Amino acid sequence: MNPVKQQRNILVTNDDGIYSPGLAALAEIAADFGKVKIVAPDVERSSSGHSISSDRPISYRATPEVVDGRIDAYRVNGTPADCVALGAHLWSEGPVDAVLSGINLGYNLGNSIWHSGTISAARQATLLKIPGIAFSTHHNGEKVPFEKLAGPLREILAMLLDRLPHWNLVNVNVPHEVRGVLWTQQSVRHYDNQIVGQRDPVGRMQYWFTIEPVEDVERGTDRWAVENGFASINPLGLDLTDWRSLEIARGESVEGAAPTGG
Ligand code: MN
Repeated sequence: MNPVKQQRNILVTNDDGIYSPGLAALAEIAADFGKVKIVAPDVERSSSGHSISSDRPISYRATPEVVDGRIDAYRVNGTPADCVALGAHLWSEGPVDAVLSGINLGYNLGNSIWHSGTISAARQATLLKIPGIAFSTHHNGEKVPFEKLAGPLREILAMLLDRLPHWNLVNVNVPHEVRGVLWTQQSVRHYDNQIVGQRDPVGRMQYWFTIEPVEDVERGTDRWAVENGFASINPLGLDLTDWRSLEIARGESVEGAAPTGG
């Protein structure tokens, strides 16, 4: 047994639910890098964001069939963030060294960061002072070629784990055909808010969100990377402060408060 493997405790989770093939694929890759346990929601929780179950107790059940009994797996009747908090709390063999979330069936790019349960699970880890990495890939409804993703994901994971503790939270998106890896920034585009209304069979109005961005894809962003065949690695921060506005505001208030005459 490789002694390095024994040093790392790696918690694997997702928001697609314990039975997602993306979760099993990520757990198998992670097993090359340490002792892996899966702690994931019992049902799909996509787009649940960073919600937590603060109004009810949660529990877990062993679910060994997820990776044919080769990796300890537990399903939780809670959110992705709940799974990370509970999994890290109950891990009995020392502290968790990294939390990996995914592989999400569908990219998490740009504004998706706000509502993604995949990224929120990784962020929950960061809030517990554990590095968190979210993994997502393209999904168009057809079978995802996880065997093709394994090589690039293994390389990215090796690189990121080697850099510990120099990062906290990373959002990784991987296309099915990878021509390289890029460090990126988050794409921030505005929407036109076109909402399409239609009547249901009994005449009530229903509405569909049609997400149409106003701006083009910005070079150097996560979205630009995957659209050009690169895996995107986007380091994220926890501080959402708009520093430019704050500097302007503080500058103005200091100026306003300063004495103006002799
Ligand atoms: Mn999902």
